[in-house]
Amino acid sequence: MELFAVPDLPEIRAGHDIAALVRERVDLRSDDVVCVASTVVSKAEGRCVDLEDFPPGPRAREVAGALADHTDGETDPRFVQAVLEESVEVLMEAPFLLTETRFGHITVNAGVDRSNVRDGDVLLLPKRPSESAARIRSALPADRVVVTDTSGRPFRHGQRGVAIGWAGLSPGRDWRGEPDRDGRELTVTVENVADELAAAANLVAGEGDAGTPVVVARDFEWGAHGESDAHFRDVESDFVRQAIREWSPDW
Ligand code: GDP
Ligand code: MN
Ligand code: MN
Repeated sequence: MELFAVPDLPEIRAGHDIAALVRERVDLRSDDVVCVASTVVSKAEGRCVDLEDFPPGPRAREVAGALADHTDGETDPRFVQAVLEESVEVLMEAPFLLTETRFGHITVNAGVDRSNVRDGDVLLLPKRPSESAARIRSALPADRVVVTDTSGRPFRHGQRGVAIGWAGLSPGRDWRGEPDRDGRELTVTVENVADELAAAANLVAGEGDAGTPVVVARDFEWGAHGESDAHFRDVESDFVRQAIREWSPDW
């Protein structure tokens, strides 16, 4: 597999046609996977919003207060208001604000970001990233699109790219029923290829000012496997999340 960044993309603004900008710069093939950082999808979709547009309500002030007590992180109640408006459930308030977005992604601050945007603005994640992926895909010769975001994960330090939207592929490559090298049948492994491609793309895109938000994965071999469309866990099958619901901090 080859991974390369689309060169010379401009600063993306509301109304920009990302697919057209990519088409003009790369000769895509049908089996390419085009991985697009959510930051630029959001910018193109006008999701860059002035903090002043989020006058904080009582809940936002309360959460901002809890954050101020337990962290040196983001404590602006307007920022917290933006996060709450993007969220359907708050899993943890402090020492960081962990919530579920409307499209089922659980991440710190609902993915609301202040990097790579103008001072005083916040960047919200795309409203429905898989619909964004489908829209971009429909205007590209490539058959598959993944929308990525950089996200932390429990149990481990550091962040990496994850898939928050996809089109033209199933996130899961299902190995169940296939043999390992000793002839034992695999019984649980559903590999999340969308996340793996997102992580690989993120590795090329970087986090800073490189200006390379779109990465093409070429010649990835899908192989002949079952597919699974499951990506975000629902709460019934998510025992870690259930444990968090039981958790009460000892401060
Ligand atoms: P996220 O992981 O989706 O939150 O995106 P990041 O903010 O980490 O940015 C990923 C990559 O996209 C980095 O290389 C940034 O420099 C680049 N980037 C962010 N915004 C823009 C933009 O408007 N235009 C261009 N050309 N690159 C951008
Ligand atoms: Mn982000
Ligand atoms: Mn990033």
